[in-house]
Amino acid sequence: MSNLQPVRGTHDLMFDDIRRHRAIEETAFEIAGRYGYGEIATPVFEATEVFTRTLGDTSDIVTKEMYTFETKGGERITLRPEGTAGVARAFISGGLAQQTPLKFFYRESMFRYERPQKGRQRQFHQIGVELLGVPGPQADVEVIALGHHILTALGVAGNIKVELNSLGDGDSRTAYRDALTAFLSGHMEKLSPDSRERLQRNPLRILDSKDPADRAVVADAPRYSDYLNTASKDFFAAVQDGLARLDVPFALNPALVRGLDYYSHTAFEFTTDALGAQGTVLAGGRYDGLIPSMGGPATPGVGWAAGIERLAMLIPEPPAAIRPVAVIPVGDAEIPVAEKLAHDLRLQGFAVDLGYGGNMGKRMKRADKVKARAAIILGADEVREGVVTLRDLDSGEQRKVPQADLAQALRA
Ligand code: ATP
Ligand code: MG
Repeated sequence: MSNLQPVRGTHDLMFDDIRRHRAIEETAFEIAGRYGYGEIATPVFEATEVFTRTLGDTSDIVTKEMYTFETKGGERITLRPEGTAGVARAFISGGLAQQTPLKFFYRESMFRYERPQKGRQRQFHQIGVELLGVPGPQADVEVIALGHHILTALGVAGNIKVELNSLGDGDSRTAYRDALTAFLSGHMEKLSPDSRERLQRNPLRILDSKDPADRAVVADAPRYSDYLNTASKDFFAAVQDGLARLDVPFALNPALVRGLDYYSHTAFEFTTDALGAQGTVLAGGRYDGLIPSMGGPATPGVGWAAGIERLAMLIPEPPAAIRPVAVIPVGDAEIPVAEKLAHDLRLQGFAVDLGYGGNMGKRMKRADKVKARAAIILGADEVREGVVTLRDLDSGEQRKVPQADLAQALRA
């Protein structure tokens, strides 16, 4: 083999990095559990259509970022770029319509072919939640509050802004789209080539274009909030009231939109300025039209996904690894006893480090390196007397303990 580098945009996770990832997943899973969310794991790949139908054929993900291939059997397969489409597919194929409301939590790898940079990879990881079957604003409040709760528990909420907008219902969307199309058509020549094309197919997507020329035009565009009908305004007001009651701080951001037709009402993003250009850590919204658009029964939904890599860069310290106890045979003669003792302690639930060789000095150094909390020293005298020398590696105190009492002494 000549190329032993990981594939561009992928990373090996080990040591502190993977502890950060796992701590984020575990914290999120535990807190989501308090709200009644159970775990779902959908396949890493789906029929390509699952994503093209749901993400829309003009989205960045579908046009540029999907890992799609044909299998030996001639099927078109895509590595999942996001979690919601797979959950919606599972809901439909599992015939779960009678079981709503359903609450799912996931923690999975995602795959997108985009330009790698800090906080942007080709294989990355997300935690996410989906709440299916609840049409009212209390569902939006719950998932946003849950996201905020998780970030608070991770110790990062203080640096994060919760941004909120409403896309309203279908009628509001149509009214706004017409107004926007009329406005943008008048500024056609100033738009980027991409956006000129979007104007025909999906004008709302121009609102979240990152192109500076588009942004300049969009700055004067009609505002979505002026086109919300009464029902949509009431819904949005209820979401805001609910969040205020739960002390979840938020700010309105009228520029926050989602281009796809199946999104409605609430759209939200949790952002930070601590990560440069990749400032969005969590994003979500209501997608009442998604499941019907895939051919499933009319089922409202709301959810979010958060990037674990971006969260991992924000959490202050990775959680400490468990501190083992180190079993230290003084000479070669004590090694068999040490091995048996280490094994017995492990069977009793202790984390035990036993070096693979070296004199006592070397083994003590290793105990230090693995941050052992105690050393269990076994010399010829100890073996003869059926005891060990137990040294607390933080205080340096040591005493002899009968081997039979060791577990109890370590628990104390
Ligand atoms: P961005 O504008 O940063 O490309 P996005 O709109 O594509 O984000 P979503 O599809 O909403 O992102 O995904 C939700 C979250 O997943 C993002 O807020 C981010 O934290 C994370 N994420 C998305 N793409 C990547 C990636 N390529 N690498 C790492 N994390 C990512
Ligand atoms: Mg993206």
